[in-house]
Amino acid sequence: MNYVSTRSAADKKYTSAQVIKIGLAADKGLFLPETVPQLTSSDIESLRKKDYSHRAADILSMYLTDYTYDELVEDCTAAYSEESFPNGAAPIVNVHDNVYSLELWHGPTAAFKDMALQVMPRLLVRALKKTGEDRTALILVATSGDTGKAALEGYRDINGVKISVFYPVDGVSRVQKLQMASQKGNNVNVYAIKGNFDDAQNGVKKLFADADFIEKLNKKGYFPSSANSINWGRLVPQIVYYVSAYCDLINEGKIVNGDKINVCVPTGNFGNIFAAYLAKNMGLPINKLICASNVNNILTDFLATGTYDRRRDFHCTMSPSMDILISSNLERLLYLVCGSEKTKQYMESLSNDGYYTITPEEKAIIDRDFIGYFTNEDETAATVHDDLTDNSYLHDTHTAVAIDAANKYIKESGETHIPMIVDSTASPYKFAADVLRSVTGKEVIDPIEALDELSELTNTDIPYPLKNIGKREVRFKTVIEPNEMKDTVLSSL
Ligand SMILES: *Cc1c(COP(=O)(O)O)cnc(C)c1O
Repeated sequence: MNYVSTRSAADKKYTSAQVIKIGLAADKGLFLPETVPQLTSSDIESLRKKDYSHRAADILSMYLTDYTYDELVEDCTAAYSEESFPNGAAPIVNVHDNVYSLELWHGPTAAFKDMALQVMPRLLVRALKKTGEDRTALILVATSGDTGKAALEGYRDINGVKISVFYPVDGVSRVQKLQMASQKGNNVNVYAIKGNFDDAQNGVKKLFADADFIEKLNKKGYFPSSANSINWGRLVPQIVYYVSAYCDLINEGKIVNGDKINVCVPTGNFGNIFAAYLAKNMGLPINKLICASNVNNILTDFLATGTYDRRRDFHCTMSPSMDILISSNLERLLYLVCGSEKTKQYMESLSNDGYYTITPEEKAIIDRDFIGYFTNEDETAATVHDDLTDNSYLHDTHTAVAIDAANKYIKESGETHIPMIVDSTASPYKFAADVLRSVTGKEVIDPIEALDELSELTNTDIPYPLKNIGKREVRFKTVIEPNEMKDTVLSSL
């Protein structure tokens, strides 16, 4: 299967190993396969009898055609092992009536980024071999919290790769800081940056564009690479859990093969929901994709009006991983709807003018599959509170945004008979202070105390990645200025 750039599809074809290694096309477009492989109902019949690792290998093998099936089985079995996912990789849990939570946070960092970042490093290492690359990949990541930790866990002790993560010294939560500073592994480095997230991100971007830096890396046998959410290697593993959830619903007798389901996704960068859209295009019987946003509701507006306009205020919410004004993966949807020339124009307008408007015909195509809702902070807190009180189910704040959107959709559409899968993207413990405040109205400032209180209150266990987090050995204490990043990285190699 060939891959193309969303901004110049006719120009150049790539293999899957190439796109996983390169990440972003030279014209700044994102990579997509030329055609979407098709999943038949007999494929689903066979997948439903398999475990998660083999479901994953089967789906990946339809896209990564220059990897052997055995390679993919080996990588998926290692990635979704019982050691990493002791409660299963992506279990579905009934919340109420026909609403199910697809729990994507049972991995090593208690957030759904693990679903992709546990397997992508293994795919990258194979991509380096397949493309004849003999240098070591140096993964450079700027993080506002979740991605950095998930990338560190995914890449640690993987041969042929090193990783350096930069976080703003006062811009992440204490739990997130402790998670990163206590990171294990022989090939990892973690640095706090004096500044905010933008300083860290601009610093990393500068390194990628610095010819002198890249030449010096080369001389030491390295090349820079990213673990960014626009990499195809992060997207393709996310298709798997939609297919897997469908199989589980069949196995539990809730649907028969061929029945429709709805899917609701708490959305930031549009990666996760785009994976669901690909699953639908492959033939998985998905009726509607519900795009859930917090008060940073740029996607809700886009889906309602056809105009994507980032000239607006940015809000900090208690679902911070959805506080995003540029949803990069939306570009992939645009490409499938209107082709690469139009996509390129829209992306240029967005960067030059801050907005673009699609045509009514293009909007009509998107309307067939998508609908958007947004949820304010009070509704988020009320959803966490009400589902715990009424249904004994505890959501994290991001998931609560999606549950609220799903409830709104079911009420408007009357589709109570169609099972609704809601992506649960983080453990409630990961955002313990906000979850606790939503439930009790009480303010707990110390996040470690909040973990314990939440556990007592709900009689549930703190997930293994967050247990004893306050007692772990701190390995990384270095705090640097943004202009010291280059020398710091070079001298660490
Ligand atoms: C990253 C993230 C999201 C948003 O996912 P996208 O793929 O960026 O749309 C939602 N919830 C949590 C907890 C996340 O970490």
